[in-house]
Amino acid sequence: MTRKILVTSALPYANGSIHLGHLVEYIQTDIWVRFQKMLGNTCYYVCADDTHGTPVMLRAEKEGITPEQLIDRVWHEHKADFEGFHVEFDHYGSTNSAETKEFSQAIYRKLKAAGLIEVRSVEQFYDPIKNMFLPDRFIKGECPKCHAKDQYGDNCEVCGTTYAPTELINPYSAVSGAQPERRNSDHYFFKLSADTCQQFLCEWTRSGTLQPEAANKMQEWLGAAGENKLTDWDISRDAPYFGFEIPDAPGKYFYVWLDAPVGYMGSFKKLCDAKGISFDDYWKQSSDTELYHFIGKDILYFHALFWPAMLQHAGFRTPTKLFAHGFLTVNGEKMSKSRGTFITADSYIKQGLNPEYLRYYYAAKLNGTMEDLDLSLEDFVAKVNSDLVGKYINLASRAAGFISKRFDGKLAVSLSSERTRFLENLFIKTVNISGDVDNCIRGQSPEIPGGIEGGRTTYIAQFYEQRNYGGALREIMYLTDIVNKFVDSNKPWELAKQDGRDVELHEVCTVILNAFKSLTVYLKPVLPKLAEDVEAFLNIAPLKWGDAQIFLPDAHAINEYKHLMTRVDSKQINAMVEANKETLAPVADTHSPVRHAEAQQHAIAPIAETISIDEFSKVDLRVARIVNAEQVEGAEKLLKLTLDIGETQPRTVFAGIKSAYDPEKLKGRMTVMVANLAPRKMKFGLSEGMVLAASGDAPGLFILSPDDGAQPGMRIK
Ligand SMILES: [Zn+2]
Repeated sequence: MTRKILVTSALPYANGSIHLGHLVEYIQTDIWVRFQKMLGNTCYYVCADDTHGTPVMLRAEKEGITPEQLIDRVWHEHKADFEGFHVEFDHYGSTNSAETKEFSQAIYRKLKAAGLIEVRSVEQFYDPIKNMFLPDRFIKGECPKCHAKDQYGDNCEVCGTTYAPTELINPYSAVSGAQPERRNSDHYFFKLSADTCQQFLCEWTRSGTLQPEAANKMQEWLGAAGENKLTDWDISRDAPYFGFEIPDAPGKYFYVWLDAPVGYMGSFKKLCDAKGISFDDYWKQSSDTELYHFIGKDILYFHALFWPAMLQHAGFRTPTKLFAHGFLTVNGEKMSKSRGTFITADSYIKQGLNPEYLRYYYAAKLNGTMEDLDLSLEDFVAKVNSDLVGKYINLASRAAGFISKRFDGKLAVSLSSERTRFLENLFIKTVNISGDVDNCIRGQSPEIPGGIEGGRTTYIAQFYEQRNYGGALREIMYLTDIVNKFVDSNKPWELAKQDGRDVELHEVCTVILNAFKSLTVYLKPVLPKLAEDVEAFLNIAPLKWGDAQIFLPDAHAINEYKHLMTRVDSKQINAMVEANKETLAPVADTHSPVRHAEAQQHAIAPIAETISIDEFSKVDLRVARIVNAEQVEGAEKLLKLTLDIGETQPRTVFAGIKSAYDPEKLKGRMTVMVANLAPRKMKFGLSEGMVLAASGDAPGLFILSPDDGAQPGMRIK
């Protein structure tokens, strides 16, 4: 029985470019959808640009265009980026559509009728120059906790504290610079704290709709049974705002997060209207179709609480499951504009890199959990070149030439029973014997854990279904290795040189191409364009999942082999990283990357004598916040630092970093200090510890910083 499935990816915001971090999700979703389609399931994949809100409104104003013009331009850019990576939506829409507006208003009316909407007066900052209420991100000021300057209205990027914008010291509008006024305005709230929402969400989040780690997170937010930790959700914003007006509430607009997920419905409705699909089949409350949202773990709150509660109480079905994924790091670190690892989709394509390299690499790393995923550029080059080109593509190139030149482009008329068995054991049979590769080449099957019905074709399908593409690719590469061993032990290039062995050569090449075809079936969800080229080369219809177990007809005519994929050149990767480097503040020549690379080639200072872990643990290293930094009168090299390491009194440390740092820029920064160093009396006062900094032969001095999230006083070990 075929399944009826609707799939979505999170809607990208119409205020920026698609980058490799976004693509993790779209590629992950696209692979899953393509797999479902290959199985013969009815599966629709819809998405849209998320267009509303203050950032879009202000950016359009800055560019001197209307928001509609801006979102139209960005929509085309996003669409081209997705197409560039073979992400194939059945419909890609915009939340600024009549359909999304209608659904948003209908849902709101139902929630209101159910008594779940409440109006309350809220005090907020108002920009008297721009005549608008300011969203939290558009108010800046001094952090009330660590006193770092120029922090956003919702949280401090220096110390990580979250607060209300009204708590900021000396707040100012990031739009006009004006000092904001406090004003009251009526806001519309969705009563998420109502018993009906709480009870529904407690059940829903525990009913298998979420990954276990996501369900646990939701438990924290929901609270234990009987304990209601949910707070009501402010769903309105005041004019001027780019969005949909709230019915019967002039000058009030839906907050962008209300209509964004409704965009899934709006986009699907457009598809339904164009293709004659029944919308209600997929969205009515009792629907037996499946609905999956692929999202980043950062927007779980919206998708696992607000969204199902809205749907449930407005008479629609709720999602079957949410599939959350982790974030992308590049070379083990957060993507960074200064390091050039904040790589846009467009720059990857412009560099001439094959998008299927990235699809393959991401697939190899995706395992269906919320773990972060690392794009190691070195590993990327190695993996693509060794697995994809070296093992898989080479199979076709090694066999195809003989078929064209020696056998008129036709496969063998029949195969020996041993060779037939080799193919059957790899792709069809359910046998559970030792995985010895040599046995396998002799016609016995490699081991499948548990002896799954349907053999490896089913086994690999299960990995895809569970979004464990890494598991699927490991299996596929395992089979590819076996086929390569078959090639090596039969040596077609030797057979070709010997008289009277044409029948054998013909059969061996036929086996290789059949195996290549079945492997292509398995790889097709990940490598759709390549699979299309293979279909053309093998002269066959578009491959479906079941084709992995059906071999090519006797004496089947194939087309001439053309290069299917070339190796990645690491020069292209380097050029891409360079192209994405954003120069920050102007820096002296000594800081240019070229000079740095040169400096690194000189020998580093010799490594000190080995110590034991006990010796190391004597040093008490702590995360410290630089509360204050100032010049020391009469000192040539020193700055006086005031450090917070969570003690009642801050510490004073004199650090020899004056040559490298402007004290103003250090204020609020996090660093690392030795907290148990004996205090030292200096000419300028008592120094109660030491701040760590790196230096080498080349000029420059670099103090250390912990990663985001570290708090003052945390021990480093
Ligand atoms: Zn702070």
